Amino acid sequence: MGHKLKKSMPKYDEMKKIRDELLAFKESPLYEFRTSNKYFPVVGEGNHDASIMFVGEAPGQNEAKTGKPFCGASGKFLTELIESIALTRDKVYITNIVKDRPPENRDPTPEEIALYGGFLDRQIEIIQPRVIATLGRHSMGYIMKKFGLDLELEPISKIHGHTFAATASYGPISIVTLYHPAAALYNGSMRDVLKNDFAVLKQFVTPENFAKKE
Ligand code: URA
Repeated sequence: MGHKLKKSMPKYDEMKKIRDELLAFKESPLYEFRTSNKYFPVVGEGNHDASIMFVGEAPGQNEAKTGKPFCGASGKFLTELIESIALTRDKVYITNIVKDRPPENRDPTPEEIALYGGFLDRQIEIIQPRVIATLGRHSMGYIMKKFGLDLELEPISKIHGHTFAATASYGPISIVTLYHPAAALYNGSMRDVLKNDFAVLKQFVTPENFAKKE
């Protein structure tokens, strides 16, 4: 009698399933480029119970070679930014919308974003972050539209460092829109802009958030 409790897969297994599906994702226009270069899909890295999830755009060459997100020059700066708010990479979760490297580091296409977006959606459901910090305009656009913030979407030069309240399937969520850390590699003054914007995340770094299931 009564309801049978739905037994959910442990988070690690659900994430591994995503990885296995990505490895076999022949439908992607990036599949051939990945396999012929012996690259890896980049699923994501960090704490599966993280309160803060960072979403970048797509892997670059270093990432595709190692299978780890943000491990090149922009990753080094991202690590510094995360440490500037008294966190470490292992306490947050870091991923991208597009999980395979686009050739010549071009921007992901709308088709690729649509195709890979479903994997990111599942990762959000697995991790259930209280905050999603978007890195760059593509992830900003995808995440804001996903959470019904279409009307508040403006150029990143206008809304960088802003916090938007939204509702996820599992409860309230804040969306923080940040520039992509690579922007600072070509423009030194952007380093300070990014550092200032990152400070917005400090309000979410509470003992309560970081005592979560660790
Ligand atoms: N840029 C991104 O958007 N993601 C990475 O993983 C690396 C660089």
